[in-house]
Amino acid sequence: MTSRKNKRQRRCPGCKETGAIRVIDSRPLDDGRKIYRRLNCKTCGHNYGSVELPIAELERLQMIEAQRASLRRVARILAAELEELMPVGATVVASTG
Ligand SMILES: [Zn+2]
Repeated sequence: MTSRKNKRQRRCPGCKETGAIRVIDSRPLDDGRKIYRRLNCKTCGHNYGSVELPIAELERLQMIEAQRASLRRVARILAAELEELMPVGATVVASTG
């Protein structure tokens, strides 16, 4: 089996570059159904947050909202939940990663 280093890379909402990021904090939300992360871009130093959730949980949220909302609304709901956890001025990004 080939050993492969697990490099964390994603697009930074600050500088828009796809580069290395550092996970500052990672914690479960909603009894572990979601994982919240605070991230730091190694390129520009921008701090931002993400939430990771299983597809089944995303689909459940979509079903709840399907009558009157789009996936964008679900993402806004998640972002609003996270806003209280974030430091002032930080960007919140919803992700199914
Ligand atoms: Zn950046």
